[in-house]
Amino acid sequence: MGKPGGDSDTYTITITLDGKEYSSKTLPLPPTGHNWDPWAHWDWQMDGQGVVVEISCLNDRNHTHIETPQVTYKVLSEPTCTTDGKFLSSASFDFGGRTYERTYDNIIPATGHGDLELRNAKAPTCTAEGYSGDGYCAVCGQLAEQGKVLAKTAHTYENGKCTACGAADPDYQPETPDTGDTSHLTLWAALVLCTGGVLGALAYGRRKRTK
Ligand SMILES: [Zn+2]
Ligand SMILES: [Zn+2]
Ligand SMILES: [Zn+2]
Repeated sequence: MGKPGGDSDTYTITITLDGKEYSSKTLPLPPTGHNWDPWAHWDWQMDGQGVVVEISCLNDRNHTHIETPQVTYKVLSEPTCTTDGKFLSSASFDFGGRTYERTYDNIIPATGHGDLELRNAKAPTCTAEGYSGDGYCAVCGQLAEQGKVLAKTAHTYENGKCTACGAADPDYQPETPDTGDTSHLTLWAALVLCTGGVLGALAYGRRKRTK
């Protein structure tokens, strides 16, 4: 085994059990004492409200020291519904004969719009389109949600006329007192038969004449 400052800067570990050697390893000789890195690792919370600082030993990276210093948090600009704000955090502490200090700034995310007030809403009728209404933010007053056009409603026909606007029903057929739907059909059938008969008679007549 070498000694610090000697002609060898390594040392050997040997594991023996009951006189039998199981493992042997030669390692570099570690210097004595810690040598804390002046460049610590600062792990800030996204919102800047806290920080965890890790300082490692330059002599042996497995030696670490953790600090959670008090954070001074300052809002530089407030966020609005649509724009981000900004904060500045700072922290400092003493360790290993040194003062460690750091600042951290980041955005405060925009809050998004608050409750919406509906304006310009209009129900559709059978003669005019409606509008679902525009949503205005109750916090900032901006138009946050554009409304959309609502299609006209159908006419409500009764006795050939729309009960709302008075428009005539294009499909309306006034019913005569003694003809229902079935008699309409019979009438049609009779008409078709009649026409067929007349045409047939005409055709017959023409053929007869050409002979
Ligand atoms: Zn150390
Ligand atoms: Zn808003
Ligand atoms: Zn109508």
